[in-house]
Amino acid sequence: MPTKSKSSKAKKPSSKSVKYVYSFGNGKADGNGKMKSLLGGKGANLAEMTRIRLPVPPGFTISTEVCTYFYDHNRTYPPALEKQIDEAIHKLEASMGKKFGDATNPLLVAVRSGARDSMPGMMDTILNLGLNDRTVRALAERSRNERFAYDCYRRFLQMYGDVVMGVQKRPGEDHEPFEVVIEELKKELFPNDPHVSDTKLDAPALRTLTDRFRKLIRERTGKDFPEDPREQLRGAVGAVFGSWNNERAIIYRRKYNIPHEWGTAVNVQAMVFGNTGNDSGSGVSFTRDPATGEKVLYGEFLLNAQGEDVVAGVRTPEPVLQLKVEMPEVYRQLQDVRHTLESHFHDMQDFEFTVEQGRLFMLQTRNGKRTGFAAVRIAVEMVKEKLIKPDDAVRRIPADSLSQLLAPVFDSNARKTTQVIARGLPAGPGAASGKIYFSANEAESAAQKGEKVLLVRIETSPEDIRGMLAAEGILTARGGVSSHAALVARQMGKVCVCGASELQIDYSTNSLHVRGQNFRKGDYLSIDGTTGEIFPGEVKTSPSDIVRVLIDKDLTPAESPIYRVFAQLMQWADQRRKLEVRANADQPDQVGHAVAFGAQGVGLCRTEHMFFEGDRIDHVREMILAENADERGKALAKLLPAQRSDFAGIFKALKGLPATIRFLDPPLHEFIPHDEASQRDLAEKLGISPDRVARRVKELHEFNPMLGHRGCRLGIVYPEISEMQARAVFEAAAEVQASGIKVRPEIMIPLVGFPKELELQIALVHQVAQKVQKERNVKLSYLVGTMIEIPRACVVADEIAKSAQFFSFGTNDLTQTTLGMSRDDAGSFLPRYQEEEIVRQNPFAVLDQGGVGKLMETAVKLGRSTRKDIKLGICGEHGGEPDSVKFCHRLGLAYVSCSPFRLPVARLAAAQAALKE
Ligand code: ADP
Ligand code: MG
Ligand code: MG
Repeated sequence: MPTKSKSSKAKKPSSKSVKYVYSFGNGKADGNGKMKSLLGGKGANLAEMTRIRLPVPPGFTISTEVCTYFYDHNRTYPPALEKQIDEAIHKLEASMGKKFGDATNPLLVAVRSGARDSMPGMMDTILNLGLNDRTVRALAERSRNERFAYDCYRRFLQMYGDVVMGVQKRPGEDHEPFEVVIEELKKELFPNDPHVSDTKLDAPALRTLTDRFRKLIRERTGKDFPEDPREQLRGAVGAVFGSWNNERAIIYRRKYNIPHEWGTAVNVQAMVFGNTGNDSGSGVSFTRDPATGEKVLYGEFLLNAQGEDVVAGVRTPEPVLQLKVEMPEVYRQLQDVRHTLESHFHDMQDFEFTVEQGRLFMLQTRNGKRTGFAAVRIAVEMVKEKLIKPDDAVRRIPADSLSQLLAPVFDSNARKTTQVIARGLPAGPGAASGKIYFSANEAESAAQKGEKVLLVRIETSPEDIRGMLAAEGILTARGGVSSHAALVARQMGKVCVCGASELQIDYSTNSLHVRGQNFRKGDYLSIDGTTGEIFPGEVKTSPSDIVRVLIDKDLTPAESPIYRVFAQLMQWADQRRKLEVRANADQPDQVGHAVAFGAQGVGLCRTEHMFFEGDRIDHVREMILAENADERGKALAKLLPAQRSDFAGIFKALKGLPATIRFLDPPLHEFIPHDEASQRDLAEKLGISPDRVARRVKELHEFNPMLGHRGCRLGIVYPEISEMQARAVFEAAAEVQASGIKVRPEIMIPLVGFPKELELQIALVHQVAQKVQKERNVKLSYLVGTMIEIPRACVVADEIAKSAQFFSFGTNDLTQTTLGMSRDDAGSFLPRYQEEEIVRQNPFAVLDQGGVGKLMETAVKLGRSTRKDIKLGICGEHGGEPDSVKFCHRLGLAYVSCSPFRLPVARLAAAQAALKE
């Protein structure tokens, strides 16, 4: 529409007046910490740290708008950009007293990516930019440290060659080509000790290395490494913008649902040097322990190194606490910084720093990623310290992460009897066992086949992300607790042990050697990410603290600090949420657990789950094989007492809370045997001919059972089934009520699409209810309603609500029927759909708000139009998924129902939704 495009053009300022470049340094900054969408997280916080007078090397940020422009305009830049960069460089040169490309005092810069949400290690950074054969000599002379100068140069060549010029591993190569060159040189120089540390390479060795690196670049790319610093800068900026679309960044964004449109900023910052000698170094620290949440300075430091060495995990660093001895003054400054950061940002910070000849410089800070354990502990303790309010605590903990607190740990007895084969650093808490795989690809495909997998690597690099996602746990021989691997593992809630330096891993033979033992691909190992221990085989697990306190009751709250902070958080969540939470549970003990986890009722009791226990299945089969209503009646009569006692057990466990009981739902053929031998067995048991069994099985065969004779269609064709189930419910209710416990059954008719289906079933339920009340001379209160799981039901919900006292959205089937997509068969195409971004997330895990959600909205509106106070809930898998829970809150549902172990997640998500209002 012409008018629209005109007005949008008019609004857009001409590109000349747009500010693309934001400087920071010497206590002043154009930007600030709130400008994350424009400056990226790193850029915004560099500005903010500058403002609060932390020692940040000066520099400037090129905004994310340039990234957007870059991709919208065929990888070119806005015309006004170059001049703004020139100005910013002049400013930087002036403040540093150095000049870009200068032959006596050259300015060197870092070119750093920085998305709005941090994406650790997913994009590229280039250090020491500005070096060439001329400036390197200037750097050597001025610093009177030739070794240092050539160390910077070889690092720059390596990063530039890799990131900008694309000198990387080729398919089939196990090692980065630059690393191979380094290894070769070490072998030549130290034939007896080919694994010497990089720090042992002296100036001439490093100079040799720079020559070989340049040669490698020429061989692999056919191009020379560019000498001109301006050209270097252009290349680096382009590469950083380009890295927004590398594979690992894309996978990361998909996993964390970061929109592709956001783009990254580029930070250009004066270099400070951690590699000038043993009074320098680089580190990464957290203001609190990101694994446990304990309030201690936590992190790592490498002497005489640039920061990439720490985060890339090539050398295993020492704990930052060691600085207390080695550099007491720096240590004291770090403690100050820690307090400054927390009292300014009101959250645990993950910060990167460099020490240059005893002087501390801050290079980055961000809210630290943390495990579920740490998230809860830190939030609760920060409330006690008055750094934040309970609302903030509730808001900031990713609801999903609570599931980590409930996950099992290694059984303490099993642990004692198993010998520890080695130890590493505890980087992501929890217990994991699995078959070991040495490459991310193999781990991924084994996991797809349903194996439990441990990914074992010498060190992990960000490209391993797919394998990490697929694995139960991650084990590395090198790298510290702040390596990218550990960071990503913690965020994913994966168990992780890293830096287990005794492990000798050999990729060529797919084996692992440690203390005289050998393990091959496919062997089982167990790792404990809380203690760092590694065990052979599969170690037995036992329940978590939370489960022990709430369910097993063999641990008291006083004995478990993690339970206490968990309980505090749940209390705050419960005070704030408006949604009720219920559980999907079918058995009395399950219901008991659910209540312990905070369930306010049962939202879905699948009655057929009770059919499989003991000899009940025989009665069920007899019922199914019956030739007429009479025979069916007899079989049903045998089932009645079993169902009745189950319902009674559930009512008792609920102690007055409501229970939604769904009548028989799956197609009957699911209950009968399909192979000849078991058919013969069954025939014998029931005293009928095997032929008759076979014939009935054939009759029941359906081409598409999901859309076949199931749900209320069973109760319509065989009303005696519904009658039996209704009788079981009401007799149990009468019995339990007589014992003084309140009973609130809510009978739910599944798979209704036509109002008349429901009317027929409801009439039948009322009849049975009347009979039982008369027989037992009691008064029962109950509801009858329906599961909304067919699109037709959503669009005629006003008609349905005339007879339904409640709706419960069965979003598993509603998703299948709305999308016309079978959940069990979607695996073959859904991954591709996600890659193509046809769907952002798996619609069977995260509610499809734009489609299924719209139908739900319609159903809610129509339902309320004929029954104002209709009770509304959801009982699909989505009821325990945070985003879907929040959607249900906005829809105004009364409750969500999910599996018992998801209840804490649902409670927290519901509170977060309420706080959003
Ligand atoms: P990432 O986002 O992958 O962490 P960064 O841009 O933070 O990448 O850079 C990685 C590391 O490079 C930093 O941890 C730091 O040690 C080092 N680095 C970044 N900028 C500078 C700088 N201006 N001077 C010295 N080292 C730097
Ligand atoms: Mg960083
Ligand atoms: Mg269903």
